Amino acid sequence: MSERPPRPVPGWIARSAQPAPAGRAAVSRAPAIAAAMRAPSPAVGLGLDSAAVRARMAQRLEAAGIAHPGVLHAMATVERHRFVDSGLVNQAYEDTSLPIGLGQTISKPSVVARMIELLLNSEAGKAGLGRVLEIGTGCGYQAAVLAMVAKEVYSIERLRGLHEKARNNLRPWRLANAHLILGDGMQGFASGAPYAGIICAAGGAAVPDAWCDQLAVGGRLVAPVVVSAGKQALLVIDKSSHGFKQSVLEAVNFVPLKSGIA
Ligand code: SAH
Repeated sequence: MSERPPRPVPGWIARSAQPAPAGRAAVSRAPAIAAAMRAPSPAVGLGLDSAAVRARMAQRLEAAGIAHPGVLHAMATVERHRFVDSGLVNQAYEDTSLPIGLGQTISKPSVVARMIELLLNSEAGKAGLGRVLEIGTGCGYQAAVLAMVAKEVYSIERLRGLHEKARNNLRPWRLANAHLILGDGMQGFASGAPYAGIICAAGGAAVPDAWCDQLAVGGRLVAPVVVSAGKQALLVIDKSSHGFKQSVLEAVNFVPLKSGIA
């Protein structure tokens, strides 16, 4: 598959001394030197503050088939250990899902990279990914990765506790292009539509019509769906001026998509 060179990313995801505006995740467009501005964290001493640990993870992702340079760069940049509880930081760069509270999990890095690469390889993605909707913010990790490869990210979470957690996790990075919403993602998020990409981090029985309606022409939706009892697969839906094209890809294992806010 031919690929365009990576889009310029918004900037190294960086800590800042500036307080983030309330009610919104913050994004910094600060340059790479901001890495030097990192605050001390409990992970210091474990080597997790070193870019080398993430570079190694990105190398493993590349060896496993992730090819998009923008995805590899984002995965090598976003500090996954800052999104997991302190007792789990030493597992943060392993290819494993981890608990984030309220019975939910942060997805495996390989799955995050795979799904985001699918978005970037869509028609809209190849032209430079515009607005993206994420259903299932969780701890905010995937939203941070998306914020590096898309122009604008809307991420919706139904559990107040996780919405707040993601807001706290993302605040230090002042991501101006990431917007966190507390709501039921089953309805999508009409205010941000149409989306060049929709990505869901929870597995449902089917894709709600609202998501297809909110997808832009040329856009792509990537979501886990239940294909048989207890089994999920990754579903890709491409929207063109002629209609929708659907592909069922590999087996996956996500937490369930649920309705309502809790
Ligand atoms: N992308 C997340 C993964 C979170 S797990 C991360 O990087 O951490 C999936 C999340 O989807 C859970 O937090 C769950 O509460 C949320 N979820 C499930 N159904 C939802 C719905 N209808 N609307 C919004 N969020 C939902």
